[in-house]
Amino acid sequence: MLKECRTILEDQQRSDGPLAGKKVVVTAGPTREYLDPVRFISNPSSGKMGFAMAEAAQQLGAEVILIHGPVTIEKPADIATTEIAIGTSDFFEQVQNHADADVVIMAAAVSDFTSKEIHQQKVKKDKADSSIQLKQTPDILAWLGDHKKNGQVLIGFAMETENLLENAKDKLERKNADWIVANALNEDDSGFASDKNKVHLIGQNDSKQIEGLKPEVARHVLAHIFKNR
Ligand code: C5P
Repeated sequence: MLKECRTILEDQQRSDGPLAGKKVVVTAGPTREYLDPVRFISNPSSGKMGFAMAEAAQQLGAEVILIHGPVTIEKPADIATTEIAIGTSDFFEQVQNHADADVVIMAAAVSDFTSKEIHQQKVKKDKADSSIQLKQTPDILAWLGDHKKNGQVLIGFAMETENLLENAKDKLERKNADWIVANALNEDDSGFASDKNKVHLIGQNDSKQIEGLKPEVARHVLAHIFKNR
């Protein structure tokens, strides 16, 4: 009975929550950088962590705009606005359209690189080059950091295979983010596609380890960040 009450409470949007009346943009899932109409560069991001962040923000009262890449999992119900983005440049354009948000949570695993050339027709096997020329994509979080409006909270994610904390702290500074949610790719029950996650939440003067099912991790991350607001 108690458990049921708690679930109902957690599922409800809290009009008195710390994010009530706030506009929160959440990005989730992978990107696709197309080489030709049928081939692309991508990654195994499922969107689970980003969707969990969107739901957790909504439960704290926020008006959530969820921008997500191509995913196969079901979208969270009752999110105010959902938009689909495919490539990093689509995410960039859509995030820029909402750059006035009070909080931006960049949970999407956006590509750092895209192909210099996108072929209009499917490349024939015997005509293909043996190498792909890449160029860097715009860094959306860094752009947000450069254009941060007063009081805006920027939350980035980091996935690393080595030097997790060092790299995450460096990312926090370099991108002018307020918080980085860092997880190690090579740990059990963590990272891409898993239902669970183990993260280090890193702020300017603060760090905290959180683990559990992704919805629990998302709720704890936001509770920690917005506890005194
Ligand atoms: O530098 P790295 O890709 O590891 O940074 C991860 C964080 O930066 C994530 O929050 C991701 O969504 C964001 N990012 C971005 N634009 C990029 C690459 C990463 O906003 N082009």
